[in-house]
Amino acid sequence: MIDDTHDAALKSWVASANGHADFPIQNLPLGVFTPPEGGAPRGGVAIGDSILDLRAAIDEGQFSGNGLVAAEAASGPTLNPLMALGAGPRQALRRQLSELLHEGSKAEGLAARLLHDASACVMALPAAIGDYTDFYAGINHATNAGRLFRPDTPLLPNYKHLPVAYHSRASSIRPSGQPVKRPSGQLKAPDADAPGFGPSRRLDIELEVGVFAGPGNDLGEPVPIGEAADHIAGYCLLNDWSARDIQAWEYQPLGPFLAKNFLSTISPWVVTPEALAPFRIAQAIRPEGDPRPLPHLWDDRDQAGGALDLQLEVFLSSRQMRDKGLAPVRLSLTNAAYLYWTPAQMLAHHTSTGCNLQPGDLFGTGTISGTDVGSYGSLLEMSLGGKQPFTLPTGESRTFLEDGDEIVFHAHAARDGFVSIGFGECRGRVVG
Ligand code: CA
Repeated sequence: MIDDTHDAALKSWVASANGHADFPIQNLPLGVFTPPEGGAPRGGVAIGDSILDLRAAIDEGQFSGNGLVAAEAASGPTLNPLMALGAGPRQALRRQLSELLHEGSKAEGLAARLLHDASACVMALPAAIGDYTDFYAGINHATNAGRLFRPDTPLLPNYKHLPVAYHSRASSIRPSGQPVKRPSGQLKAPDADAPGFGPSRRLDIELEVGVFAGPGNDLGEPVPIGEAADHIAGYCLLNDWSARDIQAWEYQPLGPFLAKNFLSTISPWVVTPEALAPFRIAQAIRPEGDPRPLPHLWDDRDQAGGALDLQLEVFLSSRQMRDKGLAPVRLSLTNAAYLYWTPAQMLAHHTSTGCNLQPGDLFGTGTISGTDVGSYGSLLEMSLGGKQPFTLPTGESRTFLEDGDEIVFHAHAARDGFVSIGFGECRGRVVG
């Protein structure tokens, strides 16, 4: 899957793309934006500090064949039609975008018509997300969170046999930047006799990778594990905001409900499987004594290259920090390689009953944490369940989020010999 579009020597005539931390010409993620002059949301491609307008490029005759089919499908108000097409047309579009944007292309003469200043555009959700499923495949998070409730057996017996998940809420997913309105709910302190109703005091983040479904499958027709990777249309960052106090009271026996349905934030750019091809790695070998997955969840090719070497970061800034001009503080640095299950295993598992996925459906991987302090994907872990506050550069103390706190996630993939790419940001600020 690695080809000329990944060549580290490739430069773009869009000068800001060269050396760009997220969007060099080797990335070419797709999204939906509204340009500064307004109008209908439309498909675009992030290139440096600009957005390439797909409709304008089509009208200028920049695409042909399968690339044109894909560009048309990606040029409207959602990317669902592109996701439905699958890998072939998407790959053709990538090749033609790379040619269009590389140094020396005649398209440079059309720059004024094709490009928008990204900072002046408004990003929308990249897809109409019909269904959203939240997995729990970050084994360190599952262990750390489980230990708070069950010190001796943090992982339940099913954890290493199947990728645990629940069906979550699609209607409240929003793109980066949406304010986070603190939810109210039923809260019950462990020593209280009865619950009360009020604002959550334990508002938390969950650092996850989002996975978009591609063509989907018909009801009753499972996707075999060997074909599951072909059903993934792309990736984003996901903050699965969680109200831990609401969760603690409501979650048994059916799992989270209101604790996670008030908002989930995603980064607005869909990074394609093709862009991530150089950064695929083998799934970590399971420790001695862990069960081998059943055959419907095991594929040698997926084990050899189905995981992602993707560095993930969490930053926080409080209102006081911003007032004092202090830079956001990094709370976490971790890696998607800590996932215990691959995205293909999640997808195969999800459809193994015959459940149908549709183009644009979204999975969360589950919170991704490393093994030590400084690599956790939730405040629940950073503060040991709220028992151990941490201190911000202003001297402020935190266990969970306070009003005015802003969280930003970043993701970057790097490998020797290749140009590093990123996902852009996934941002949200808590309002009371
Ligand atoms: Ca989650």
